[in-house]
Amino acid sequence: MRLFTGFLAALFLTGSAFAADEHASAPVTIVIHGGAGALAPGRYTPAEEDAYEAKLNEALDAGYAVLESGGTALDAIEAAIVLMEDSPLFNAGKGAVFTREGKNELDVSIMDGATLNAGAAAGVTNVKNPIRLARAVMENSEHVMFARDGAEKFAKEQGIETVKPKYFRTERRWKAYKEALKAEKEAAKQDKDAALPHDFKYGTVGAVALDANGNLAAGTSTGGMMMKRYGRVGDSPIIGAGTFADNKSCAVSSTGWGEFFIRLTIARDICAQVEYAGKTVEEAADDVIHHRLPDAGGDGGVIVLGPDGSYAMTFNTKGMFRGVKNADMQSVSIYGEAAAE
Ligand code: ASP
Repeated sequence: MRLFTGFLAALFLTGSAFAADEHASAPVTIVIHGGAGALAPGRYTPAEEDAYEAKLNEALDAGYAVLESGGTALDAIEAAIVLMEDSPLFNAGKGAVFTREGKNELDVSIMDGATLNAGAAAGVTNVKNPIRLARAVMENSEHVMFARDGAEKFAKEQGIETVKPKYFRTERRWKAYKEALKAEKEAAKQDKDAALPHDFKYGTVGAVALDANGNLAAGTSTGGMMMKRYGRVGDSPIIGAGTFADNKSCAVSSTGWGEFFIRLTIARDICAQVEYAGKTVEEAADDVIHHRLPDAGGDGGVIVLGPDGSYAMTFNTKGMFRGVKNADMQSVSIYGEAAAE
């Protein structure tokens, strides 16, 4: 009997140890960004800084609440991104920058690290929350990306909320657009290179998350670069450039000068370095953002999250709106490290 009890106890212990292992939950984490650029101290008033930080915290809280209650990484990033799309502070959804023709054209993508399924849309003008459209493309179509009127048609078919294009307009972005047009005309008059300082065109939003089941997801949403030409598509809707997620390596969302992020397949490169070269997410992000990207002439930043909860928020611009939340901490920042000291 004793023996039998001992045997049962052993069985119970092994069984429960096994069960604990099998169901051990991953260190749920969410990391977000709200765009990289010339964000030096003094650029914003303390009240503006407070507003940005409050919105970043709100987005982190929304995403983390999903993870904490056992929700998926995809639901978490969608919740965080919707909040930032709805905020006029960021260059995504309401508050998007203007094209050269004075329109708001939105690019977006999402990727599921568990299945490598992905969805994206480019150049949409009437979808209130483009990240919801990207998710619908991923889940309810056999394709990965829809563009312009086709994307809008699909959104309508899917019952996704649409708005009048003027919904996206904010005075701040309109003023910046008018100033850019004026600067371009002045430059043309003086026969100078009309290229704009690209650093004030940023403000994309993105999120990466790890859920309790160990699944990663990434998403990115943007109005693109101010003064972009007709039909220009940036990196944000390009899987492997603006967004990438694979449970085997990491999840990435990018922000910066899109043309370089496309050429260098920035998001995929970071995950490939993690997967094939055994680098940490921080080492891989450092190599790409501090070497490969500037060597090619580009700038910007990324948020990266690994399946073990390790993360990086790396940029080669003066600042990047960013934040992270896990079981132990929550933090948001705007400026670079040196500025924060
Ligand atoms: N990467 C975006 C684009 O090129 C812009 C940004 O991140 O702010 O469209």
